[in-house]
Amino acid sequence: MSASVSVPALPPVPTGLWLGGDQVHPGPVFGVRNPATGDVLIEIADATPADGATALADAVTAQPGWAATAPRERAELLRRAWELVIARRDEFALVMTLEMGKPLAESRGEVDYGGEFLRWFAEEAVRIGGRYTRSPSGTGRILVTEQPVGPTLGITPWNFPLAMGTRKIGPALAAGCTMLIKPAAETPLTMLLLGQVFADAGLPPGVLSILPTTNAAALTTPLLTDPRLRKLTFTGSTAVGKLLLRQAAERVLRTSMELGGNAPFVVFADADVDAAVTGALQAKMRNTGEACTAANRFHVADQVRAEFTAGLTERMSELTVGPGYAPDVQVGPLITDRQRTTVAELVQDALDRGARVTTGGNALPGPGWFFEPTVLADVPADARILREEVFGPVAAIAGFSGEAAGVAAANDTEFGLAAYFYTRDLDRALRVSEALEAGMVGVNRGVVSDVAAPFGGVKESGLGREAGTEGIAEYLEPKYIALP
Ligand code: NAD
Repeated sequence: MSASVSVPALPPVPTGLWLGGDQVHPGPVFGVRNPATGDVLIEIADATPADGATALADAVTAQPGWAATAPRERAELLRRAWELVIARRDEFALVMTLEMGKPLAESRGEVDYGGEFLRWFAEEAVRIGGRYTRSPSGTGRILVTEQPVGPTLGITPWNFPLAMGTRKIGPALAAGCTMLIKPAAETPLTMLLLGQVFADAGLPPGVLSILPTTNAAALTTPLLTDPRLRKLTFTGSTAVGKLLLRQAAERVLRTSMELGGNAPFVVFADADVDAAVTGALQAKMRNTGEACTAANRFHVADQVRAEFTAGLTERMSELTVGPGYAPDVQVGPLITDRQRTTVAELVQDALDRGARVTTGGNALPGPGWFFEPTVLADVPADARILREEVFGPVAAIAGFSGEAAGVAAANDTEFGLAAYFYTRDLDRALRVSEALEAGMVGVNRGVVSDVAAPFGGVKESGLGREAGTEGIAEYLEPKYIALP
């Protein structure tokens, strides 16, 4: 644990809702906490269902005008917003570290990564296509246009407070959709600061509203039943995703769902074990393990299991834990005490079933919600940690023998977001890439996110894709126009 350090001052952030292009302070407020101390950083406006209704009315009013703007105009606005985010990188990063906990270097990385969705989709706005073809029978012509879906509700999680928002706002605005964003109550400040950036960039009123609240369901339920809302895009847990899908089904509302994961990290017997340890550390510890793409379970061939376990144990035990704003910290606090309790319970369950700790294993004392970087070896197949997303700095290692068994273990989950594996054999790399039931596969690398690639999962990890050329299609509706 890093030595105690004073808490830096929170940079000025908007504390009202973004409604109608302005900051609005309608009534109730709630506190946003620093997970490194548990203290309240600031109080901000708490959006009510009435604010949600105002935001939807604004979005509906703004929709036709926004859809009719020249694509170049939307592109330039998004480009300006990207420039402003990058110009304010340090401010965004400090706000993010204070409300979410991740080390400053990672927050700066997220500002670059999250900002990039605004630049990428600025470039996509002017490439929205369509097609024209002749009917195979020769009896007519087919024109297909791509039109904006319309007013969209975006609901985002706390783990990437900027990127999870920009990955929705970028393509929605580029496509000509208006949007309401409900950020996670744990981390609304980054998104409120992004609202300032869009105001400074000259976004017309009503195109983007930002509505933090502590009562998500009260805000979103009436919106989901309103026929003027045309799409829901959600990033969060599978449990909440299922609930929202049930609500959306009532009106056959178009949805995109980026849900939970349980990423396997498979090390085959022919892998470069040192490289696999380095990749494992990245795949596990990025964002303190609080990533939907985080490697959740390590399936390691019996021939290299002892070497891999020793290597990962050494690297994990060297990590410095502490507040994200302290110098040289590599692992921040978990988001809440509740999250830390869940992590501790999953560790205890594995130990009760026969796993052993090779480093870490405990919550750290003192203020803030810290947990030691932990490696669990010999984790038995019935341990909950192999089935459930741990969302914390814990690596669970289990053995296997033979390629088929490794692939079967990796696929033995209802989730299918990311998967990683290490091998030196090209044929195996191709075979296993195809056999893994996941939306994203990392081959000999521990990171899979890229602005230019489709991000998303199969099975209970979600529906649809964000980013890449696929990302904007989620906000466009093809229309077939039959011509003589
Ligand atoms: P969560 O599902 O608890 O919350 C996500 C968002 O939904 C928050 O804004 C929350 O306020 C809101 N919400 C919660 N209950 C709601 C309800 N009844 N009605 C409307 N909105 C509601 O998830 P979380 O704890 O914030 O985030 C962690 C989860 O998100 C993990 O499971 C993680 O895997 C997943 N995640 C997925 C991706 C992805 O791209 N697939 C990315 C990041 C996180």
